[in-house]
Amino acid sequence: MKMDKKLIIAIDGYSSSGKSTFARSIARELNYIYIDSGAMYRAVTLYCIRKGYVTEDRIDTASITEDLGNIHISFCYNPDTGEFETYLNSENVEKEIRGIKVSAHVSRISMIPEVRARMVELQRQIGVYKGIVMDGRDIGTVVFPDADIKIFMTASVDVRAKRRYEELKSKKIDADYEEVKRNIITRDITDENRDISPLRKADDAILLDNTRMTIEDQMKWIRDIIGKKLNENRN
Ligand code: C5P
Repeated sequence: MKMDKKLIIAIDGYSSSGKSTFARSIARELNYIYIDSGAMYRAVTLYCIRKGYVTEDRIDTASITEDLGNIHISFCYNPDTGEFETYLNSENVEKEIRGIKVSAHVSRISMIPEVRARMVELQRQIGVYKGIVMDGRDIGTVVFPDADIKIFMTASVDVRAKRRYEELKSKKIDADYEEVKRNIITRDITDENRDISPLRKADDAILLDNTRMTIEDQMKWIRDIIGKKLNENRN
């Protein structure tokens, strides 16, 4: 696909609706940068767990807010896997942030206004370069309300739980299917009902229900949308 103007593509949606696979494929095809905003919230959560700021029944918001300046998140390319991996204060935490422990706490940490403000600031800094595909929950509504293309993804809960379970297994991360499914449902509810930047479809986002679609079907679908947008921008 030939292009001259670089786009910002925002992909939001429910947990395990296939956002990162889709976003990564688009970025690869366009030679854009892919940013997994969920990984940033997961890295902050891991930091908080390690510091003891979050337990089953308590979150020490004051300490988290005070410590935010010491949390540095970056993405580094791993030539062996061909993927970008998440680093927390120079440590590769890609595997640890996907585990059930971080998954269990991440939606509560993501509700803290100061955490969101800091993450949104970092995400917008990355966005100035354009030519990016970012996925998350509030990318089209809050982070980049003027994104060139906004997609909102969903799929049935069973399909999402199965995909997530298989992804964890393939990464050799311990998982129980029922627990994975429960975690997805709980995160959906928490993400949709929080006061700040709740998960919702932006009015101008295009809905993509991929329950019965392969990644190739989704790529065929988006190519058309990208082509039209690039043409519009050219004129
Ligand atoms: O995308 P992923 O499922 O890895 O995101 C983990 C959690 O991070 C979500 O359940 C949500 O609570 C939070 N998140 C968010 N805003 C984003 C991305 C993720 O609140 N933009």
